[in-house]
Amino acid sequence: MIRARSWRSLIVVLGMMWLLPVALVSQPISTHQTEADRIVYTVSLAGTRTHLVHVEMRLPSGEPARAVQLPVWNATYQIRDFAQYVNWVKAKTPNGNPLPLVHTDKTTWRIDGAQDGAIVEYEIFADEGGPYGAQLNAHHAFFNFAEILMYPVDSRAMGIDLVFTDLPQGWKMATPLESAGSGFQAANYDRLVDSPVEIGTFDEADFDEGGGHYRVVVDADKADYNLYKIVADLQKIVAAATAWMNDRPFQTYVFLYHFPRHRGGGGMEHAYATAIDLNPEALNNTLEVLDIVSAHEFFHLWNVKRIRPQSLEPIDYTKENYTRALWFSEGVTSTVEDIILSRAGLLKEHRYLQILGEQISYLEDSPARPLQSAEESSLDAWLERYSYYSQPQRSISYYNIGALLGIMLDLGMRENSQGHACLRDLFQWMNRNYAQQGKFFPDSQGVAQAADAVAHGDYSSFFRKYVSGVEEIPWDDFFRNVGLHVVRKKVSVAEVGFVAGRSFDQPAAVAQVDGGSEAEKAGLAIGDVLLEINGHEPGPDFERKLQQLHAGDTLKVRVRGENGERELHWKISTREEVEFELQDVENISAQQKASRAAWLKGECQSAGDARP
Ligand SMILES: [Zn+2]
Repeated sequence: MIRARSWRSLIVVLGMMWLLPVALVSQPISTHQTEADRIVYTVSLAGTRTHLVHVEMRLPSGEPARAVQLPVWNATYQIRDFAQYVNWVKAKTPNGNPLPLVHTDKTTWRIDGAQDGAIVEYEIFADEGGPYGAQLNAHHAFFNFAEILMYPVDSRAMGIDLVFTDLPQGWKMATPLESAGSGFQAANYDRLVDSPVEIGTFDEADFDEGGGHYRVVVDADKADYNLYKIVADLQKIVAAATAWMNDRPFQTYVFLYHFPRHRGGGGMEHAYATAIDLNPEALNNTLEVLDIVSAHEFFHLWNVKRIRPQSLEPIDYTKENYTRALWFSEGVTSTVEDIILSRAGLLKEHRYLQILGEQISYLEDSPARPLQSAEESSLDAWLERYSYYSQPQRSISYYNIGALLGIMLDLGMRENSQGHACLRDLFQWMNRNYAQQGKFFPDSQGVAQAADAVAHGDYSSFFRKYVSGVEEIPWDDFFRNVGLHVVRKKVSVAEVGFVAGRSFDQPAAVAQVDGGSEAEKAGLAIGDVLLEINGHEPGPDFERKLQQLHAGDTLKVRVRGENGERELHWKISTREEVEFELQDVENISAQQKASRAAWLKGECQSAGDARP
């Protein structure tokens, strides 16, 4: 069932809040019995034209000397130093007397004399769009709170109240945070910052599925999407995923979408929500990309949010949490995303195998493949913002290799157990033994233990060879049981002569120029920023568009380098690549066909399927 949500009552509340004097609305919310031991944030949205967010943080009484910090990273495994946007910070007593405040490192401020509590005020610039950003403008506000809200170092576990003030008339809010009085509350800072908020004039629908309530929020041009179709697909996705996990660890889940015209896409997972940006071009005629990203982020509510590697906890907001487990937390999430879509009827066998072939080709054609393991690629995730690191000669993708390892592990477990155990059991086992017990799993070793437990085998060699090691994956050994084998084809692909990349907050830049190539002869240099490619700004899919060029085509680029802007042009040449395609084995048996059908649906015959 889909129904448009009525926001009238909330708008009335917000309108009233807007009219109240600031001193009144910034009082702690009175519904809590322990209000003395809560932190109260008041966030003003008055700066829609300047992108300046005014934050007031009220700390309860406690130690006289306190430190407050703004995270340097949040969820994306990239150091981003949000303190760069803090214009000023002040502190005072609850009575309004100024308190001494010292800036002790790039992201920390120390207050003295705060024994009776303190009010910390600051101004922060927020104009980065996208699911990993924080933005306030005349159109809307979207926040990942870790980017704008400081925390007291000695009380990150304290309960929190959050109030927004100065909302433009007619704006409404969508967030997975729990409502409380005229604002929201969270059990602690970690919970707070795992809850994005969209504030504006968005479109919304909601539906119930299997006892859970789902809200779908879209802030985009109405010409670019059909909410009814999106909801129809999401309903199938959440039904397939919760059934596959035999679990629904939430009452309400929120899907937040933006479809910006001039930016790339991406999704950010949260425990009770996801925020997803897609370029409208990706939504032309098909919801395939939206379905893939939505299924991926939705499955993250288990894998990484609840089934969580120990290395990511406790979160250190001041520096990197190094982890070797992203091949599992990200890559195998991609494996399951396709299983969910297949079960939901949104990904047919032919397309599934086509995507799988492309993934194998991508891995096998990566020059860094024999040099970097899946675990090392996870550990070095923090280097991905640098274009040199991101080129295929230097690093592999833990998404790509992890997705393939998830499939091989699934196929291996099926073969060893004669179809009785599979990846589904592994996830349900990890959900029961870690997530539901409030425990974190010991990274790759924990995955290996789970595989041993559910498939009653020894998976240590699999992990030694392919997870921590760089051995070639013998594809056909894994695919034989489901009647498939890999066919290698030599293909000629257009060779542009350079590699360019883009970190999420950087313009597209040249990371590598092939020696002796036409690009080098034309004068292209590493570090050149790509301003135009054949007369167009490099859009979010510029790499895909480059791949679509043909040998003999002329490529014209405008770049900005050390010595200003240049126009360059050269002819596209060709290069040989090996393409991998999955095909049926000869004389495929009924048994192989049955195994394949079960594999594509993520089904196995173990107890995990029978539980209610
Ligand atoms: Zn992910």
